Amino acid sequence: MSEQQTEKSPARNVVIVGAGMAGVQSAVALREAGFAGPVTLIGAEPHQPYDRPPLSKAVLLGKAEDSAFDVDFEALDITLRLGLDVTALRAADHLLDTADGPVPYDALIIATGAEPVALPGSEGVPGVHLLCTLDDAARLRPVLERQHDVVVVGAGWIGAEFATAARAAGCAVTVVEAAARPLAGTLPAEVTAPMTAWYAESGAELLTGARVDRVEEGAVVLADGRALPAGAVVVGIGARPATGWLAGSGVALGPDGSVTADSALRTSLPDVYAVGDCASFPSARYGARLLVHHWDNALQGPRTAAASITAAGTGAPLPVHDPVPYFWSEQFGRFVQYAGHHADADTLLWRGDGADPAWSVCWLREGALVAVLAVGRPRDLAQGRRLIESGAALDPEKAADPAVPLKSAAL
Ligand SMILES: Cc1cc2nc3c(=O)[nH]c(=O)nc-3n(C[C@H](O)[C@H](O)[C@H](O)COP(=O)(O)OP(=O)(O)OC[C@H]3O[C@@H](n4cnc5c(N)ncnc54)[C@H](O)[C@@H]3O)c2cc1C
Repeated sequence: MSEQQTEKSPARNVVIVGAGMAGVQSAVALREAGFAGPVTLIGAEPHQPYDRPPLSKAVLLGKAEDSAFDVDFEALDITLRLGLDVTALRAADHLLDTADGPVPYDALIIATGAEPVALPGSEGVPGVHLLCTLDDAARLRPVLERQHDVVVVGAGWIGAEFATAARAAGCAVTVVEAAARPLAGTLPAEVTAPMTAWYAESGAELLTGARVDRVEEGAVVLADGRALPAGAVVVGIGARPATGWLAGSGVALGPDGSVTADSALRTSLPDVYAVGDCASFPSARYGARLLVHHWDNALQGPRTAAASITAAGTGAPLPVHDPVPYFWSEQFGRFVQYAGHHADADTLLWRGDGADPAWSVCWLREGALVAVLAVGRPRDLAQGRRLIESGAALDPEKAADPAVPLKSAAL
């Protein structure tokens, strides 16, 4: 018997907290699943719900004004309550606390996403930015337009995408990374080696093994005493589930701060579900609990949560959320895509040469494909994703030949 609660009666009124990708998709998925009861979507941000990936791409460069979701909330009879912070969950009473008073729910979907980790001591220092919200992107656009000297702290996905945009805008860019290489926590050194060269090629300076001691107005001071002049500082050092408001609610959280959902995305509390960047789930496919901070997971999870809610109390089988994780990044003129999870892989195969514009790597475990990273090779990604889904074993020699379609390497 799992620690998760089973539903007792069909839900009548669903409230969703968090109006980002996962919250909006949850509302849409409920309607698509035939749920006809009231659906209320509460979001802290004042803006019409919007998509985040364009914030570090087209929106940042002024090529798009915003990235509002193309969803007709009125036609779907979804009540939007924007600019409203939910401050607490009182599960025993099936109530949420907000500045506008308590909000009752029969079923609740937690979709509060993730918030960026701030650089200690940098909060409140003028010229220091995060890149998570539409407001953040709006504040950063003039930085790019005025071609400030920019220091980016963190050579992760967001740091690389911001550096790309800032270079495209003509800024002088220095990227400071505490680890010995970009994406150190995410990809093996062998795979990040070619990526390291992308920084220099774009004209950005990448300083690795460089720890920030402090940020002052106009400068980033490193632990070795070097002071880097900075018209603006952009911090991209990770994100944590936005679950602080759940303190005292009794909902089970993991050590990473995520709401620990089960495979049907039910939480430890009755009638409470969790989706997107704030929720981890047990992956039978990978034998691990996964916390995925990527767009596709915020698209897939809501379908499971909606199906869980509509199945509750009906005796219908529960859905299972165990997708092959997928994400993409657009950096330094390249389209980088990743599918799978390579933590337990035993073999790494290259398809092509990392010095070339397009290449891929495949991770195998006991002969089966478990993850693929494709740079400018979207077919490898699409085929690899399907092979991972089916658990296909690959002929390693064929898989390592970039001239052979990846699907033809399946045994
Ligand atoms: C700049 C940027 C670029 C990205 N680019 C990519 C990309 O290229 N590819 C990719 O795969 N992924 C990308 N991502 C990740 C992707 O956008 C996220 O995985 C996705 O947005 C997660 O959706 P979510 O709804 O779970 O969370 P969020 O989008 O974070 O939405 C959560 C919402 O909940 C609100 N909220 C939080 N707490 C409360 C509260 N107590 N009360 C009310 N509302 C609350 C927040 O204000 C927020 O609007 C990017 C993310 C960022 C920030």
